[in-house]
Amino acid sequence: MSTADGADPMYPLLGRLVSSRDMGREIKLLGVKLLNGTQPPFPAYAPGQFAFLSAFGIGEAPFGLASTTERGEVLEFAVQRLGSVTTGLHELAEGDALGVRGPLGNTFPMEAFQHKNLLVLGGGIGGAPLRPVIHSVLDHRQDYGQLTILWAARHPSLLIFRDEYESWRAAPHTELHLTVDEADAAWDHHVGLMTDLVRQVAPSAANTVAITCGPPIMIYHVDKLLSELGFAPEQRYVTLEARMHCGLGKCGRCNMGELLVCRDGPVFSMAQVGNFLESYL
Ligand SMILES: Cc1cc2nc3c(=O)[nH]c(=O)nc-3n(C[C@H](O)[C@H](O)[C@H](O)COP(=O)(O)OP(=O)(O)OC[C@H]3O[C@@H](n4cnc5c(N)ncnc54)[C@H](O)[C@@H]3O)c2cc1C
Repeated sequence: MSTADGADPMYPLLGRLVSSRDMGREIKLLGVKLLNGTQPPFPAYAPGQFAFLSAFGIGEAPFGLASTTERGEVLEFAVQRLGSVTTGLHELAEGDALGVRGPLGNTFPMEAFQHKNLLVLGGGIGGAPLRPVIHSVLDHRQDYGQLTILWAARHPSLLIFRDEYESWRAAPHTELHLTVDEADAAWDHHVGLMTDLVRQVAPSAANTVAITCGPPIMIYHVDKLLSELGFAPEQRYVTLEARMHCGLGKCGRCNMGELLVCRDGPVFSMAQVGNFLESYL
């Protein structure tokens, strides 16, 4: 199996960590430049896609691409420390080498979203693959309607991309609503689950597409609520995570019914996966 340029998609490209900064508790934003010497250095990728990062000697794991091709050649990934690979990636120093395999998976149909209102719902680290959607809309603001961002985390220390909220809010026709399950003394936004925030904001389904990513339990309940608010399955998009090994539709590890999250997703409309959502929990 090979890509259009003949490269083996199982073979990681060599990358160098150019930045690593703490974004939240146990969450780092990693900036990676590729050293493969080809032009362009990484195939053009689009919002929704992911790549495997490898910490040499430990293993590889999939992460949503949190950057856009348009904003520069540094690939960005928000990585939450969980187990061995994510710990290995957190422990890399700037200048260290790592492997990058991708871009993989499908993309959000950004062209089909044009001239529609977008409701973006990100929970915890699940906000990472939604940042390219937000950046794409902000960089082509006139092509889209209202952008309403609902952003949640268990605690303020787990909110990602906090340094961008001001610029998101300042963009035309853009709203940002924040919530945490549990506040700290400095918190002056909503407190409660993402579903409480959705009820409070009560978004209209008219000419609107909703895009959700977060923990499975959040996706499940938010999706139910959006349906009650009148969003049809074709108006409700999710990006799903599943344990996977190859990322290429070969190993079958990430199946949901007939679908494979890596090959057919990770972006799905509820018209495709609505029936499987309960089994995703
Ligand atoms: C398409 C896709 C995109 C992803 N994007 C991101 C991202 O942008 N940022 C990010 O931090 N993570 C992301 N993940 C999850 C990431 O791949 C896992 O956190 C990583 O594989 C954990 O590897 P590890 O070796 O550190 O932990 P492991 O030792 O493999 O696991 C540690 C613990 O975490 C649990 N775990 C591992 N992976 C998952 C998972 N996918 N869902 C739920 N529990 C899990 C394990 O069951 C175990 O209990 C994504 C996953 C997929 C499939």
